[in-house]
Amino acid sequence: MIEATHEVSNQVPELGDYNLYSSDAVLRTAVQRAGAQGHDAALSHYGERLGRMQTRQWARDANRHAPELESYDARGYRVDRVHFHPHWHQFLRMAFAHGMHCSAWAEPGPGAHAARAASYLLHGQAEAGSLCPITMTSAAIPLLRKEPWFGQVQDQLYSRQYDERDLPLAAKTGMMVGMGLTEKQGGSDLRGTATTASPVAAAGRGERYLLRGHKWFFSSPTSDAHLVLARHGESLSCFYVPRWMDSGDKNRVEIQRLKDKLGNRSNASAEVEFRDAQGILVGMEGRGIATLIEMAAYTRLDCVLGSTALLRQALVQALHHARHRRAFGRALADQELMRCVLLDLAIESEAATVLALRLAAAFDGGDEPLQQAYRRILTPAAKFWVCKRTEQAVAECMEVCGGNGYIEDGPMPRLYREAPVNSIWEGSGNIMCLDVLRALKDSPEAAGELIDELARDSAGEPLLTEAAQGLISLLRAGGSGLESAARHVARDLVLLVQAGLLRRHAPQAVADIFVRTRFGRAAGVFGVGIPAVAAQGLLERAWTP
Ligand SMILES: Cc1cc2nc3c(=O)[nH]c(=O)nc-3n(C[C@H](O)[C@H](O)[C@H](O)COP(=O)(O)OP(=O)(O)OC[C@H]3O[C@@H](n4cnc5c(N)ncnc54)[C@H](O)[C@@H]3O)c2cc1C
Repeated sequence: MIEATHEVSNQVPELGDYNLYSSDAVLRTAVQRAGAQGHDAALSHYGERLGRMQTRQWARDANRHAPELESYDARGYRVDRVHFHPHWHQFLRMAFAHGMHCSAWAEPGPGAHAARAASYLLHGQAEAGSLCPITMTSAAIPLLRKEPWFGQVQDQLYSRQYDERDLPLAAKTGMMVGMGLTEKQGGSDLRGTATTASPVAAAGRGERYLLRGHKWFFSSPTSDAHLVLARHGESLSCFYVPRWMDSGDKNRVEIQRLKDKLGNRSNASAEVEFRDAQGILVGMEGRGIATLIEMAAYTRLDCVLGSTALLRQALVQALHHARHRRAFGRALADQELMRCVLLDLAIESEAATVLALRLAAAFDGGDEPLQQAYRRILTPAAKFWVCKRTEQAVAECMEVCGGNGYIEDGPMPRLYREAPVNSIWEGSGNIMCLDVLRALKDSPEAAGELIDELARDSAGEPLLTEAAQGLISLLRAGGSGLESAARHVARDLVLLVQAGLLRRHAPQAVADIFVRTRFGRAAGVFGVGIPAVAAQGLLERAWTP
């Protein structure tokens, strides 16, 4: 017998089964506040399924085995099929069964958006790639249901049965919708869209057109339809482009290739060409960008949710590691400096979670100016800030896990690679900040209510009142200099709202540290300016499986 060279010791045990929902006190109380407490049992059930070791293994498989394109079949016929790992379908099956692609519309009512947001925060911790088609489908519904022909697709859109088969819609039990805007020459500035649409007979809403051109990014290409921006004459309109035509033939949307992406590997993102593909005009003719911007309000909320989920899961992994790994005679989680880092990360996660649920609740809210402000002004600001903070926080969580955090056997590299995409798609950081300025200008009443709320919530805390006054002065001064301050405006709006939420709903120590470190002598990295003594109890509160 060969003698062992060493004993394996001090390696962190695998994170076992745990309930993503019941172990998240911050999320649970945010769900209550958002009026979604009726969904508690369903969320707990979902959290239990998603937190199983087996589910984590599925996520690993679905991302290790990226989708593959089959352009032609064995006989040379064009087929444009995409083959996914079976566990990709498993995640979509779960999301559909839970209603994440439609519940906010199919079952409206108090807390509907907030409950869906909470599911999204859970699902995104287990597997993020499958959220893309879920987001697109859900965000397309408010547009499609304004169309007189919505009844023809409603049953499949609201169905809880995921149907992966590549068949005409009439033969399917459920459907997914994607979105095609970005072309080679530009994704932010859509005015340069070159894809053309020519009416088959009459022009106008609900009429049929033939689309010719391309899209450089076209995620979820196997969706049953995409909402596509195309040009008719001088104006841009939105078109519903099905994967299959009523004739029973495949629509002429040819997949050129699949993108080889940094992250988001389980999901397919394609380049496509439209070779006189059939499409139906959705919304008003010439209002294509406005129509799709309405959809973007929902997709941008989902980017905030997706990043909040990644941040939460990275935090859980970091806490698990630090509690089991020992160095210099003690667990990492008992080392003073490590506790500072972990607490700061936990506070960042809490701030993102309470904001995410507050935003989702605004989508459940009415037309009051403050609710509008959260939807229209704060959502793009949060997409900018939370997605960027998540990139940094996930990297810090990876470092907590040391060298093992960098190795593909564990989940950290996947979380790290996934983080930037929420910041890039659906409008990149600068575009979000410029959108915040536009929204502040275009919605003066909502902006006024928001500023009033920030001023009220800052009362009694000098660092906050100073920041709020600074922001107000900046906005009042306006002028040409405002554009260069757009990131400053978006950041401070988010931080002030997060501070207000934490002061109302979190333990005082959490709120105090947040204010001191985010508004004081801003540090830039996690773990600076945190009193280690405060971490006791707060780290247990952050996560105990
Ligand atoms: C994985 C993945 C999947 C995607 N899936 C889809 C999809 O399904 N459908 C779809 O339509 N698109 C999709 N996209 C495309 C995505 O939405 C675009 O990449 C994004 O909107 C940016 O557009 P762009 O790549 O053309 O960059 P550009 O528009 O060239 O922008 C580049 C940079 O310049 C900045 N910028 C632009 N204008 C200004 C300005 N005025 N001032 C300051 N800064 C500015 C932007 O913020 C960005 O940082 C996907 C992208 C990725 C990465």
